[in-house]
Amino acid sequence: MVYETYSPEETAQLGRKIAQELKPGSICALSGELGAGKTALAQGIADGLGITEPVCSPTFTIVQVYEGGRMPFYHFDVCRISDLEEMEEIGYEDYFYGNGFTLVEWAELIEGLMPPGHQKITIEKNLEKGFDYRRICVEP
Ligand code: ADP
Ligand code: MG
Repeated sequence: MVYETYSPEETAQLGRKIAQELKPGSICALSGELGAGKTALAQGIADGLGITEPVCSPTFTIVQVYEGGRMPFYHFDVCRISDLEEMEEIGYEDYFYGNGFTLVEWAELIEGLMPPGHQKITIEKNLEKGFDYRRICVEP
């Protein structure tokens, strides 16, 4: 399914919509260049899950855990991973195979660890269509 948004708010709104469909234990790879809007989408998803805490890019930690919503939200940003062992050290399997919803920004860097059949969301800019245009492809 392909969506087009023209503002961060519209992207967050799509996130809220996506959140309605999420089941505990699901995991999603979120791809797109820096500034694409991955965190904006994650904020909408968190809001849609009923999480009231502010969600930001987990820059200094690989994973940020948000409880208090309809299910736990495990927000990974693996862009700074240099070694897959770092994933082992934080016990990633407890999240990936846990009872929450896991979202992984930059999942392409840890492709081999992503469970088979995970959902994929890709965000692309297209400057010809405007600075705030985003094309968001949601694969089941
Ligand atoms: P990422 O996590 O992919 O690096 P962020 O979500 O942190 O990206 O930042 C996206 C930036 O792009 C924000 O500054 C946001 O205001 C801006 N932006 C402009 N248009 C959009 C849009 N349609 N969707 C999402 N973000 C947008
Ligand atoms: Mg981000």
